[in-house]
This record gives sequence, structure tokens and C-alpha cells, in this order.
Amino acid sequence: AATLIDGRAIAQQVRDQVAADVAAFTAETGVTPGLATLLVGDDPASAVYVANKRRACVAAGIADLHRHLPADVAQEQVVAHLQELNADPQVSGILLQLPVPAQLDATLLTGLIAPDKDVDGLTPISAGRLMQGAPGLRPCTPSGVIELLDRHDVPLEGAEAVVVGRSDLVGKPLIHLLLQRNATVTVCHSRTRDLAAVCARADVLVAAVGVPKLIGADAVKPGAAVIDVGINRTDDGLVGDVDFDAVREVAGLLTPVPGGVGPMTIALLLSNTLAAARLQRG
Ligand code: NAD
Repeated sequence: AATLIDGRAIAQQVRDQVAADVAAFTAETGVTPGLATLLVGDDPASAVYVANKRRACVAAGIADLHRHLPADVAQEQVVAHLQELNADPQVSGILLQLPVPAQLDATLLTGLIAPDKDVDGLTPISAGRLMQGAPGLRPCTPSGVIELLDRHDVPLEGAEAVVVGRSDLVGKPLIHLLLQRNATVTVCHSRTRDLAAVCARADVLVAAVGVPKLIGADAVKPGAAVIDVGINRTDDGLVGDVDFDAVREVAGLLTPVPGGVGPMTIALLLSNTLAAARLQRG
């Protein structure tokens, strides 16, 4: 049976390291890194996500600079807040919690975030920097996937990596992170023919889809490292995109859901906030 990857334990190791690095950075520069979380409206899931991020900041010695705007806020007002945060030297990183209410243009608003404060790595400039291998901030969830593989010494150079899903948030950035590590990368999506056969070539298989149990044992090469990014709410509770019980018998390494990739996202957000504080010092 596969070795399970303990994302909670690895995320805690990353968070402890970031806390130590933040303390050293602050001692050296006199600057406390700060994360501005911008929450618009009262979506309960978003409120929980933002509260978790704020708590994690405080635990890591990062200043918690939160703003909560009403659900009916006008676009120009959100623009004004983002411009203020871009200009504020106390603010190292800016996170606009998505989704935003329907009257707001999420793509336009995200694109206004200063690239050196873009801790979610979602602006076109950050995406371009990633594609070109230039220094910059990378999206947290795909960076967390790479970190999990690294902590388990999974070789990426020359490996067959298959990514299922091509979202701007997870799949596409992951393609580039894997390419930078010299993996041979294949991307699958909703129009892919014979998904299982393509996936079964993978030494490293990452599912970021949002379909429960899409990846069965027939889609996994014996001994492969399988990373399940999916988070699906079902009658059986939270499940991933991978048929856990079946794939566990075939894979060499496997992330559980919950407790796999999920906890890594916040850990990498903290790491990005410190990286942003460094970027701003040039
Ligand atoms: P998305 O909906 O934006 O993209 C889904 C992708 O899957 C698309 O590219 C689509 O082409 C592909 N797809 C859809 N159906 C398919 C099928 N039947 N076969 C093959 N490909 C198919 O999703 P996203 O934002 O990338 O999120 C994917 C999953 O990861 C979701 O379950 C989400 O909740 C989860 N997620 C988890 C974290 C985390 O762990 N912190 C972060 C982001 C997303």
C-alpha cells in the first residue's frame, strides 16, 4: 500500500520555518511583514478561509492587516482600497479573497494588485514571471504540491508528470513549476480522450479537477506519486478527486483528503508574504 503524505505535519514544518525566517528578517531590517486580507461580503466559507489565514499570520509573526467591505460595495471603492494597500509600506502582501460579489469584476480587481505584493500569484504579471522563470510570487496551492513532492524526495527531473486540470489557480501554474524542474509534463482536462490511459503513464500524477473519485486505480502506474488537490463536499464528507481506497493499493505515495494539499496552501501563503516583504526591499 502507498505511503501517505502527511500534509498537516509538513505544513507545520513550513510554518515553523517561516516563523523563524520572519523573526530573523524583522531583527535584521526592522520591518515586520504584513498581510492585507480583503474580504468583500459575508460568504461563510470565505469568512472561515480568511479567519484561518489571519490566525496563521499572527502565529508566524506577520502583521494581520485585515479589511472587511460590505457585500454591496461599489467597484470604484474596492479599487481605491487596493490602490491604498499597494501604496502602503506596512503592507507586504495583498490577498483579495475570491469569489467576490457579482457586481465586482474579480479579474480586473486581482489585476490591480502590485505584482510584488501579489501573494496569491494570480496577476498577469506574476503569471508571466512564472512562465518565463523570472523571480516573482507563485500561486500557493501548486507551490504546496511541489513542496510535498520535495519533502518526500520524489525525483522530478526527467520524470513523467501528468496534471489533470488546467485552471489558472492550480493546473496551469503547476505545469510551469514542473517544467522548471525538468519534468516531462502532460496536461489533461475535460476534453481529454482516454484520461485513465494518459494518467497511467505518470510517475507523478496530480489531480486538480473537482470531481469525486475521478482518478481510479486503472489511472495509476504502480508506485507512482499521486497528489490529490481536489476538495469535494459529498454525502460521505470531504473527498478528493482520487478514489483513495482503490488508488492506495497501487500508488507509491498518496495524499489524503483532507490533510494532504489543503494545509499547504496557507503555509505557502505565509512563505509568499515574507518573500513579498523581501521583494519590496529589492
Ligand atoms: P476549476 O473548476 O477551475 O478547474 C477544473 C479543471 O478540471 C478544468 O481545467 C477542467 O478542464 C478539468 N476537468 C473538469 N472535469 C474534468 C474531467 N471529467 N476530466 C478531466 N478534467 C476535468 O478548479 P480549480 O480551481 O483548479 O480546483 C480544482 C479542485 O481543487 C477543486 O476541487 C477545488 O476545490 C480544489 N482546490 C483545492 C485547493 C487547496 O487544497 N487549498 C486550492 C484550490 C482548489
